[in-house]
Amino acid sequence: MFDNLSDKLDKAFHILKGHGKITDVNVADTLKEVRRALLDADVNFKIAKDFTTRVKEKALGENVLTTLQPGQLMIKIVKDELTELMGGDVAGVNLSGTPSVILMSGLQGSGKTTFSGKLANYLKTKKGKKPLLVACDIYRPAAINQLIVVGGQIGVEVYSEPENKNPVEIAQNAIKHAKANGFNVVIVDTAGRLAVDEQMMKEIADVHKAIQPQETLFVVDAMTGQDAVNTAKAFNDRLNFDGVILTKLDGDTRGGAAISIKSVVNKPIKFIGTGEKMEAIDVFYPSRMADRILGMGDVVSLVERAQEQYDEEEARKLQKKIAKNEFGFDDFLSQIQQIKKMGNMKDLVGMIPGAGKALKDVEIEDDAFKHIEAIIQSMTKEERSKPSVIDMKRKTRIAKGSGVKIEQVNQLMKQFEQMSKMMKMMQGGGGKKMMQMMQG
Ligand code: GDP
Repeated sequence: MFDNLSDKLDKAFHILKGHGKITDVNVADTLKEVRRALLDADVNFKIAKDFTTRVKEKALGENVLTTLQPGQLMIKIVKDELTELMGGDVAGVNLSGTPSVILMSGLQGSGKTTFSGKLANYLKTKKGKKPLLVACDIYRPAAINQLIVVGGQIGVEVYSEPENKNPVEIAQNAIKHAKANGFNVVIVDTAGRLAVDEQMMKEIADVHKAIQPQETLFVVDAMTGQDAVNTAKAFNDRLNFDGVILTKLDGDTRGGAAISIKSVVNKPIKFIGTGEKMEAIDVFYPSRMADRILGMGDVVSLVERAQEQYDEEEARKLQKKIAKNEFGFDDFLSQIQQIKKMGNMKDLVGMIPGAGKALKDVEIEDDAFKHIEAIIQSMTKEERSKPSVIDMKRKTRIAKGSGVKIEQVNQLMKQFEQMSKMMKMMQGGGGKKMMQMMQG
């Protein structure tokens, strides 16, 4: 996410770091580079210009030239301004109605249907809601089916009327159905088209007027850059929506949309989509996003994701096993599966301060654990629970079975041993023993 922009901003700050003396000239040069970086990331010209003007004023106000660490101060000013530009505070979704009605708008292909599913899943699993999904696309039967498939994946009911060609009626009937059946959130997925056109706008405006949603969300593909901002403007002029959903931020997005949208339509970005899976949804935190853009990582999100996956019951069982020396490869495998649930590896690495930059050119496989899983899956039950039985002959068989080299099996065995030792130490006597060991 935002690799290019992060890289260029980093270079801009190097102008300050590289020189012993800070002068008006290198501050001006830095700002010029910051502006260029924003423009390259597809940020609108005026926004980029205003941005650097504000940063300059602040920098002069805080006397960047005379501080001991002008580079650091400059980064902080840029970070604060970026946060402000992207919305300042985090914006929630209004769930006040009974049921709360959420209307989705956006072009075809923006990720509306996928996001409707993600949001339903999020509200169900994280907020304890009982959502109903509504298919209001009267043009493409495939769109209705797609929503039904999504609903099936997450265990959420989908309301549709395949024969009805009146989206207003469908939406109204769906709300009645929700009231009668105890659904407290209704998410209405509407028909989009490939480009903004009057018929689509009229249709969604009619639905909007008829159902008076608590929340109207506009979904846009972040990869479309400047176009995302223009489309947002067209929809906002018509619907006066409440918030923006930026999808496909997992790809090679240049980031311009995330940075520009708030200041053009003056509506907050509420969520981002970072993948095709139902779990790939994140609340949008302007400040954390600014950290990421500046290559400062996002530890808060990383820890939160870890906590979400943390299962206390599992952890207790694991502790017992470690204490009894029963930690085996099956437990190792389930640990890996927990990590995998946290998201894709590239995304996670990007949240570690500094790591994103350091590992920028290292190819990180989407499924970095593929080989490890294959090796463990090629082991017998006995081998998994009692790794000490694995001799050379067995290693050769395991390597063959999992399609890896024997060195990779050796490496995994070693890693496993180290990990078991370390865990054992954390248990008994805690950190003290570990410190002793580290000090030799
Ligand atoms: P709709 O026409 O607006 O309903 O768009 P869809 O929900 O059908 O999404 C269009 C395509 O984008 C599908 O192939 C989705 O899997 C994909 N997609 C949606 N959201 C994301 C996302 O956050 N990241 C990625 N990589 N793909 C996405």
